[in-house]
Amino acid sequence: MAGKQTLKSKSNKKVLPNGASSVTLRNVSKSYGEAWLSDDVLKDICIEFPAGELTVIVGPSGCGKSTLVNIMAGFEAPDSGEVLIDDKPITGPAKDRMVVFQETALIPWQTTYENVVFGPKMRGEKSGQALKDEAEELLVKVGLGEFIHKYPIQLSGGMQRRAELARALINEPTVMIMDEPFRGLDAMSRSLMQEFFLDLFEENKKTNIFVTSEIDEAIFLADNLVVLSNKPTTVQTVMKIKLPRPRDYKMLTTEQAFKYKKDAMELLHDEAMKSFAVLK
Ligand code: ADP
Ligand code: MG
Repeated sequence: MAGKQTLKSKSNKKVLPNGASSVTLRNVSKSYGEAWLSDDVLKDICIEFPAGELTVIVGPSGCGKSTLVNIMAGFEAPDSGEVLIDDKPITGPAKDRMVVFQETALIPWQTTYENVVFGPKMRGEKSGQALKDEAEELLVKVGLGEFIHKYPIQLSGGMQRRAELARALINEPTVMIMDEPFRGLDAMSRSLMQEFFLDLFEENKKTNIFVTSEIDEAIFLADNLVVLSNKPTTVQTVMKIKLPRPRDYKMLTTEQAFKYKKDAMELLHDEAMKSFAVLK
């Protein structure tokens, strides 16, 4: 297990630009299927994601978090409503919004370095020594300086997720969307990844939308916490998480953090009970 020090960049050079956009979901609804078989997933979702802040979406499994991510990324269209980036409606996927999923999306037959340079190279946006320097700098920043020429299968789950972060960040997005990125990692790797991710966020202050079903993770990371209901999913509440930054794991045991957790847990528990009652 790598210690926290080795996760950090040895370089102090700031390679990531400071661009950040606001995201607005305006009355977004989505159903799957037709007529009496219709599965109403999202119902009139309105959320403001302030520029440069880290907003966490937490909700029960199956409530439509990934559907919401796909709509924000532009991979899927809502049935009604719209997604605005800096007040402009989106029309599809674009590199201003980068998504990191739970499942690895690294190309297995390419090295870490090749995976990172793939996007900008394919689009002909960056090339040569400048691209090489930028990719290497980013890989050092995410603690993979010594793994540049390894293949995804040779990396641990946490390293794969960091390679994906580098691959997303090289596109200079103004919004990063993370869909349960640390799910499936063991507890130690997960908490190291959370701390690492916060260091990266606090340095760059991009707009981050982070989806999770883990309440401790949500409170540890968030500036704003959006709690969703069960299907048909609506926004139950938005909480400001006013724990100071930089964050430290010990903050999760403060009275303030317990209060946030209690409030969110009560809402989530009620929703879980409702879906349990339906299943019975
Ligand atoms: P979460 O990410 O919160 O676990 P999802 O967004 O993956 O939830 O799924 C929400 C609901 O929408 C589930 O009931 C799922 O079965 C349904 N769903 C998601 N994608 C599709 C699809 N492409 N076709 C039909 N149903 C879907
Ligand atoms: Mg999901």
